[in-house]
Amino acid sequence: MEYAGNLFVVAAPSGAGKSSLVKALLELDARLAVSVSHTTRAPRGQEQHGREYWFVDNPTFDAMVARGDFYEWAQVHGNRYGTSRQAIEARLQAGEDVVLEIDFQGALQIKQLFAQAVLIFILPPSWEELRQRLQRRGEDSPEVIEQRMANARVEVAQARQFDYIVVNALFETALFDLKTIVHAQRLKYLAQRRSRPAVFGALQLN
Ligand code: GDP
Ligand code: ADP
Ligand code: 5GP
Repeated sequence: MEYAGNLFVVAAPSGAGKSSLVKALLELDARLAVSVSHTTRAPRGQEQHGREYWFVDNPTFDAMVARGDFYEWAQVHGNRYGTSRQAIEARLQAGEDVVLEIDFQGALQIKQLFAQAVLIFILPPSWEELRQRLQRRGEDSPEVIEQRMANARVEVAQARQFDYIVVNALFETALFDLKTIVHAQRLKYLAQRRSRPAVFGALQLN
């Protein structure tokens, strides 16, 4: 599928720092917007409908799947999550950049649909550090943490299929790496032609 904006897809095992990094990236870059997914899981803590997720029940999610409303969806940690057309289509067509913060199954589906999508995988520096971050975040029971650690081994094994790898050891270094990937994508020929029509016109480049 063709579109004008840049599409970035960020995946990581739970606890690797994906949400913190994407949040910091968005604060630094007003040209990026994050896609709000639909999910069947219940809201946590301060989460708001339409801000972190669109929280829907199973029948609603089923109906959306049947209507073809999703570009991708996947089952993650026992709940379903999906990226709706409505969440990203208008922005991309308007030439704006979008970040998807989704699991690796969804990321690989997006790459099939949008060949130009940039797939970024965030790795923790070690298994020990990943477990410590899940424990320190304090959102999950010990059983859930063990389930997430087991899932993490499956997810990390897919990292080779991504375009870029960011190791989140030192947070600021990882954030810099993410910014660099976004910047490099905006320097590609087609992106430059879109953002600098005067220069390309003056040089008779098409
Ligand atoms: P986290 O694992 O602690 O970041 O917990 P979250 O609840 O934020 O995310 C749960 C999982 O759903 C993560 O793997 C996300 O990457 C994934 N996810 C979130 N939004 C989407 C989406 O729109 N599509 C897909 N395929 N996965 C998503
Ligand atoms: P994810 O969205 O991948 O599940 P989070 O962004 O929630 O991960 O991060 C998991 C925990 O690790 C959070 O408590 C976060 O503050 C912490 N964290 C993130 N990056 C780092 C880092 N580079 N060093 C230490 N702790 C980190
Ligand atoms: P959480 O429930 O902790 O918010 O999210 C759990 C996992 O689901 C995370 O890995 C998150 O990235 C992923 N996720 C969130 N939204 C989507 C989505 O729309 N599609 C897919 N495939 N995964 C998602």
